[in-house]
Amino acid sequence: MSEQTKYKRPSWDEYFMKIVEMVGARGTCDRGRAGCVITRDKRILTTGYVGSPIGIAHCDEVGHEMHTVTHADGHQSRHCIRTTHAEQNAICQAARVGISLEGATLYAKMAPCYTCAKMIINAGILRVVCEKDYHGAARSKEIFAEAGVQMKILNPVVETYADMSPGDFQPQPPAEPAKQTEANPNISSQEIPL
Ligand SMILES: [Zn+2]
Ligand SMILES: [Zn+2]
Repeated sequence: MSEQTKYKRPSWDEYFMKIVEMVGARGTCDRGRAGCVITRDKRILTTGYVGSPIGIAHCDEVGHEMHTVTHADGHQSRHCIRTTHAEQNAICQAARVGISLEGATLYAKMAPCYTCAKMIINAGILRVVCEKDYHGAARSKEIFAEAGVQMKILNPVVETYADMSPGDFQPQPPAEPAKQTEANPNISSQEIPL
């Protein structure tokens, strides 16, 4: 077998991040469909994905629960607050079945929000690996550094969403007549991106 065709095994970080992708596919809020996997000694301890608390209606069924947050510097951002975040659900699942997360590594699609970061620190997790950055993660990074939690962002791109700031919010205009192209004859104006 030549060097060029030699199979390259994924690293442990790549392996767990691929699993994060699959876990996140079960998410019920399309603003991210984030997943999370928490490991220790190369073994999965628990997983979680973004969604409403058990028994509560999901964003995919009843729409998002959008809130506008005004930050200290005056800028505003919009967030869906219906869901429990993937990291929180992974930590809650560990609590339900009695697994300690002391010294664990957490894998997530995006850099954790401030609330998740505080929970991660208090759960005893020592390392956080994220696929992408998150626009609301500045304080998380500060407290991780302060608490000694190691953080690694694999792809330093900031994840973006529709309707991220109040200026982005616009009522949907009436549907235009269906536009059909040669390349995509089946796409109609009914398919409005979310
Ligand atoms: Zn939502
Ligand atoms: Zn969060």
